[in-house]
Amino acid sequence: MPYSLEDRASRDRAGARRISGMSTFSVINPATSEIAGEAPDCTRAELDAMVAAARGAQPGWAALPVDERRKYLHAIADVIDANVAELARLVTLEQGKPESVATEEVAGLSYWLRETAKLDLPVTVNQDDDERRSVTEHVPMGVVAAITPWNYPLGQLSFKLGPALLAGNTVIVKPSTFTPLSSLRLGELLRDVLPAGVVTVVTGGDDLGPWVSRHPGIDKISFTGSTRTGRDVMAGAGASLSRVTLELGGNDAAIVLPDVDVDEVAGKLFWAAFSNAGQICLATKRLYLHTDVYDRIAARLVELAGKTKLGPVSNHRQYDTVIDLLRDCRDNGYDILTGGPAEGLFVRPILIGNPPEDARIVQEEQFGPILPLLKFDDVEDAIQRANAVEYGLGASVWSADPDAALAVARRLEAGTVWVNEVMHLSPLVPFGGLKQSGIGVESGVAGLLEFTERRTITVKR
Ligand code: NAD
Repeated sequence: MPYSLEDRASRDRAGARRISGMSTFSVINPATSEIAGEAPDCTRAELDAMVAAARGAQPGWAALPVDERRKYLHAIADVIDANVAELARLVTLEQGKPESVATEEVAGLSYWLRETAKLDLPVTVNQDDDERRSVTEHVPMGVVAAITPWNYPLGQLSFKLGPALLAGNTVIVKPSTFTPLSSLRLGELLRDVLPAGVVTVVTGGDDLGPWVSRHPGIDKISFTGSTRTGRDVMAGAGASLSRVTLELGGNDAAIVLPDVDVDEVAGKLFWAAFSNAGQICLATKRLYLHTDVYDRIAARLVELAGKTKLGPVSNHRQYDTVIDLLRDCRDNGYDILTGGPAEGLFVRPILIGNPPEDARIVQEEQFGPILPLLKFDDVEDAIQRANAVEYGLGASVWSADPDAALAVARRLEAGTVWVNEVMHLSPLVPFGGLKQSGIGVESGVAGLLEFTERRTITVKR
């Protein structure tokens, strides 16, 4: 069904429809705008019961030797591997990405579970002498809520599920209202693998997120989503002093120095911005090109954009954000080099030529297939402009001279800065945002520790 901007009212009703007498809500397939399935619309009382079950299961889970929990992580990975095709099909159905990419996402989750299972919780000996022995160890927090966005419905669990469970917590997964189906199926599969209450998937409408983040029975909220929602999560968590990790929005700059091999980097820069139709927190969202290479790289990007068909924008809300930014570019007379809306929620990759620095497309997070190309002469100026946004998630620097690139990288205000690549994540490497891009990190030992409290035991000799 083709989608027009004027259609907002009827569309929103369709997206949030409740079927009378049944507590479910409809999930929309972004590729067709048709209903993809129904998900349970959990009530507050049902959430309370799930949290109580998770609390009940937690002491037993924490009491298992850590090696037992490692085995469970492998068992979860095994069941995911055995059901990759079905889970990937659901991700495609609800999120819109091609099935080959969804398959990589699901396989990535099992890979991260296995790698996370290798991590150890450190024990620190603070003092060990004739007077006393003092040791600090890491203990579970209790019940963890994993609140996830819609861009990688299962991939986002890579950073939360394994570490939370390994550390001895039980987990309530709260997927996005737009993409609950794959998480629900994963939850069903895990019932055969894990003791009851260890992992529970809860789905519902717009009330559910705030209920979860304000729930007194939840000890830790591991949240990934927008900065605006992150602020609300943190405010809600304040009431019961729940711990939070917040992985929030980004507006990542890529700075391209004049010595790059244009043919080599142009394709990488294109996919840095347009993978997953631009709907990646760590996607390149502002591309700063030195004047010497600007025209050649811009031409190459326009050519690639013309040849590439992206998946749809994943939901109507995000589509509106992208089209609103495009409209703002048009209204202000900025140079739209290529791209625009196609049928339904599909958008042809949009490139905006050298808009002013205070343009909305430069200052705001687009989270979709529209990219501003920005010119600079002086690298000092590029660094200053790259840093002059509220976000600080990721960034990248591109140069034939690694030392020159490193000198720039060290000056960028971002949780992760890549040189000559972008968006490379590893189960061993912590990532997280500076400034308004978040609090805390995910992955690696540091990410694992975010699911623990410290307990110090001191023995007087
Ligand atoms: P969102 O903030 O709208 O929603 C995220 C999750 O929070 C969803 O499950 C949603 O249902 C839930 N939610 C909504 N309101 C809530 C509330 N008041 N309290 C608690 N939960 C609530 O974000 P989104 O549109 O799903 O995702 C896109 C955003 O996420 C972008 O800004 C993107 O940059 C960011 N993101 C960040 C990372 C990262 O690692 N830093 C990764 C992916 C996406």
